[in-house]
Amino acid sequence: MARTPRPPHIHKFGGASLANAAAIRQAVEIVLAHRPAPLVVVVSAMAGVTDALLDGAARAARGDVGHVRATADALHAQHAAAARALVPAGAGRDELLRHVDAAFAELEQVAGGLAALRELTPRTTDYLAARGERLSARIFAAALEAAGCPVAYVDATAVVQTDGTFGNASPDLRRTERSARKALRPILNRGAVPVVPGFLGATPDGQVATLGRGGSDLTATLLARVLGAREVSLWKDVPGLLTADPRVVPDARVVPQVHLREAAELAYYGAKVLHPRALGPVMKRSVAVRIRPFAEPASLGTEISRRRTLGEYPVKALSAIPEQALLTVTGSGMLGVPGIAARTFAAVHHEGISVSLITQASSEHSICFSVPEASAERARRSLEATFRPEIAREEIDGIELQTGLATLVVVGLGMAGTPGIAARVFAALAEARINVIATAQGSSELNLSIVVDGAEAPRAQRAVHAAFQLSKIGGGAVDHPDRSDVVLLGFGQIGRTLAPMIAKVKQDALTLRIVALIDRSGFVFDAAGLSPRRLAALAAAKAKGTALAKAPAGGRRAGATEAVAFIARHALSNPILVDLTADDTTETLKAGLGAGMHVVLANKRPVTASKRSYVELRAAAQTHGRRLLHEATVGAGLPIIDTYQKLVESGDRVSKIEGCPSGTLGYLFGELGRGTPFSTALRGAIAKGYPEPDPREDLSGKDVARKALILGRLIGFAGELTDIAVESLVPDGADRLALAAFLRRLDEYDAAWAERVAAAAARGGVLRYRAIVVVDASSPMASLNGTDNQFIFTTMRYRKNPLVITGPGAGPAVTAGGILNDVLKLAGA
Ligand code: ADP
Ligand code: ASP
Ligand code: MG
Repeated sequence: MARTPRPPHIHKFGGASLANAAAIRQAVEIVLAHRPAPLVVVVSAMAGVTDALLDGAARAARGDVGHVRATADALHAQHAAAARALVPAGAGRDELLRHVDAAFAELEQVAGGLAALRELTPRTTDYLAARGERLSARIFAAALEAAGCPVAYVDATAVVQTDGTFGNASPDLRRTERSARKALRPILNRGAVPVVPGFLGATPDGQVATLGRGGSDLTATLLARVLGAREVSLWKDVPGLLTADPRVVPDARVVPQVHLREAAELAYYGAKVLHPRALGPVMKRSVAVRIRPFAEPASLGTEISRRRTLGEYPVKALSAIPEQALLTVTGSGMLGVPGIAARTFAAVHHEGISVSLITQASSEHSICFSVPEASAERARRSLEATFRPEIAREEIDGIELQTGLATLVVVGLGMAGTPGIAARVFAALAEARINVIATAQGSSELNLSIVVDGAEAPRAQRAVHAAFQLSKIGGGAVDHPDRSDVVLLGFGQIGRTLAPMIAKVKQDALTLRIVALIDRSGFVFDAAGLSPRRLAALAAAKAKGTALAKAPAGGRRAGATEAVAFIARHALSNPILVDLTADDTTETLKAGLGAGMHVVLANKRPVTASKRSYVELRAAAQTHGRRLLHEATVGAGLPIIDTYQKLVESGDRVSKIEGCPSGTLGYLFGELGRGTPFSTALRGAIAKGYPEPDPREDLSGKDVARKALILGRLIGFAGELTDIAVESLVPDGADRLALAAFLRRLDEYDAAWAERVAAAAARGGVLRYRAIVVVDASSPMASLNGTDNQFIFTTMRYRKNPLVITGPGAGPAVTAGGILNDVLKLAGA
């Protein structure tokens, strides 16, 4: 009688677990630690390889052969380096390197053909992509063998049999069972470890096809099913299956155990941690699929099985499907007419488009459903064709299409039978002021799907996550202390002064990190925070004129608003957007506020733009429950706005604020009084970083006017910048020059300025900058030194003897200090 073999444990290593030789070595250690029990290894391609191969294939078909050659060279080097590091010199390594060489030589050859034909079929795409997994499996097998473990590389086409749909093949269970047993049993029986490339299978005529992105998860569960395995370990770069995507919800937690149906629902509805169909083969089996942290092999991660635990959590996790569109078929003629729904979905099905959410109003006036945005137009055309007669007869109004949406999916077995869950979800969304566009609950009550504006999806996930207290689910935190993530918009002198100051903030229970820098060219972003070293390197490069878009390792080209939108899609904790530019950034700031960021301004423009734009900006902050602080826009680091607010909060009423609010002019006049020529004084001010990027902003009084407007708006002034009268100190004709020309010709203005100073001195006064009035030398303003600013508050309580704040009001260090104070306030320090 044949003895029943002991079922093997399936270990699958994801791309991140195979990033380089060191990672592969660690994966080999994990396998060795599970020996000598029978096991099968399934591997993904090395990190980034599938993306590079698919991109290379697409570019080749567009004729970009040079790019493909570079890709092939880089991939060749990556694989050869891993092979050399993991396998000792000898026949085994030589053979391995021959495979690597051949794979990329052939890639270039096929790419040349594609470029000539300008055509890329799904079959060729799969054939090219397959080399990622095939090579990593060969390298893994060789490394395992070098570590003393008996192994056998088994190609996926000998194991996994599919229906042959290139790009998204479905495995055929019965045929796979036969071939897998035939190919793998003998190896297992002799105590060796089969190493199988994931993601791939054979078409009925023996060609290679892929199972869809992330498909090696499916290879692993499929092998578990056909080999009767009880345990599958999927080694990934996360601590387990989390309550939400950690890139979106920073306080996502590991769920210790979820039901197979819950996990399948999550995977199907967008949780990128598992291939959407990965759990299909084991759905009704007694198998434990574990999502395990590669970085922590002793941890069990998350168990996905048929047990029901964590009853106190009716909702266990959530995810969101991005880039969705809603199609709505409406019309009074639909009422009670049978078959409209069936025809609607038949029309969409006919196009091979999958529908992920359906709602029908009980009045039957409309049917509404969501499809991926990319296929929405096609779906609409098909529906219009189907219902052409009804539309002509006006029984159906037409087909409405709404794009730019996302579907939030809330999953938990406990939702069935627990009343009020949906209400809690909607209350959380309402509180976060997120509009619900459509919603559906499956009859299983396992999942609640809610369509929201795509840009709101991250905030929606955070709101629901918080409402169900999922951060307390007990599986431990993803490594993240209480922190605030800072995005610097503008990386000029002030930004470069501020960055190291932020990095140095040390306070208990508070972490400040700079996650992104944005300039006019683009941005640099790292969700894990830019290290002080990286910041210093970027600052040095920027000071030498390298735009951020060109920054080595990670610079991207983008407009500021686009950059903020990109950054906001990631898991940021208490994000704070700091505007250090002198540009008109209102739209970018609104995008930031809309995405849940607080805003700190050193830039005066957004708060001195038209009254309407100012009111809208403030309203945007309020709508999204975010704060807009701008202490540094007036008096740099001096606490001017803060003082104003404290006075008002304590019941005082401010009736007048007078001031000398320009550090630049203060400095200039001080120097002029000492006999320094105007050109030298202005150049000195520029070197010290006092003036605006164009010093004529200061000289023209515009900068002073902006500050006056900011203070004025605090105390209720309803006018515009143009309502503020200032005298310009820009020499005649100089306002029409280009900035560079103006700066070149500064010397020409020295004589006129020397005369002004002499005239003031002759009258026993000194020049001060209140629109160049001659202030009596005994006035307190006359005693202002250097860049000192002075603000005089006349209030109900300080009427006779006004409250005076004096101190340096220009320069990167004091300005950065003022900004940092605002940032700390928002960080809860
Ligand atoms: P593999 O290395 O096996 O291919 P993936 O990269 O496909 O692993 O899956 C892990 C990624 O899935 C994580 O980096 C994480 O950002 C993302 N992810 C999305 N939703 C979740 C979730 N709910 N739990 C864990 N990870 C998630
Ligand atoms: N390498 C493939 C991908 O990146 C399959 C996988 O990793 O599961 O999609
Ligand atoms: Mg994957």
